[in-house]
Amino acid sequence: MATNQDVSHRYARVGRKLRGQPTSDGAGVRLTRLIGGAELPDLDPFLLLDEFGTDRAEDYIAGFPEHPHRGFETVTYMLDGRMRHKDNHGNEGVLVPGSVQWMTAGRGLVHSEMPEQQEGRMRGFQLWVNLPAREKMTEPKYQEFAPERIVQLQPAQGVQLKLIAGAVGDLRGPIAQPATEPVYIDVALQAGADWEYDLPEGHNVFVYVYEGGVEIGQGEDARQVDSQELAVLSGGQRLKLRDLGRDSRLILVGGRPLREPVARYGPFVMNTKQEVMQAFVDFQEGKF
Ligand code: MN
Repeated sequence: MATNQDVSHRYARVGRKLRGQPTSDGAGVRLTRLIGGAELPDLDPFLLLDEFGTDRAEDYIAGFPEHPHRGFETVTYMLDGRMRHKDNHGNEGVLVPGSVQWMTAGRGLVHSEMPEQQEGRMRGFQLWVNLPAREKMTEPKYQEFAPERIVQLQPAQGVQLKLIAGAVGDLRGPIAQPATEPVYIDVALQAGADWEYDLPEGHNVFVYVYEGGVEIGQGEDARQVDSQELAVLSGGQRLKLRDLGRDSRLILVGGRPLREPVARYGPFVMNTKQEVMQAFVDFQEGKF
């Protein structure tokens, strides 16, 4: 029979907690960098997490004009607003609220991400997920899903999930990526609601609260995580989330670490400096 201590050790704890840094990227889009800045340069396999969220058109209207990527994946999850995406391989589309675009840049593409609106709210996340060495030069591809394709479920009273990647019970989100087996769940908790979830073993996992506030953990180890705070989890596999009375929304994201050397410069993420320099040459020679 398990003692209380054994039980508490099974639960995931908040290992560290941080707020993002305000920055701007693209042609002057204001955003908050949560992963990829000085405080948390990466969380293998995650290279970057930006939150964009504003009602002010001047903060987003310049968008992200043409730029390249090689060696990893970009994941855009829209909460509000519309963004037009277009690449040099002929792929084009509009991301609407609630949609997800999981783009495997692989050996390279050049694309633009521009607001498809002149005013109103633009809100969402962009996550960069690394690829293993063997897949960095793979053909570019997209996994793009409209809101109705995202799996929605209510696993407990007052708990609403949007399952983008990973499994909850018998249900599985639409994204497939065997290299890192990602979990990406948008969690809404009504005031006072709680939810427990078994994390995949060995994954690096974070929770980012974007509305309200929650408690993570069990008993004496429980810690409060407020809106605009990112919590990196450590310890056990059992995640316990409890809303602290304000109605909360958060993203729960995890992935299997690659444990490979990372050579990174701007939009190119490879394993060695030479490969990054080759990416510059290939881009300049129009090979993307
Ligand atoms: Mn991009």
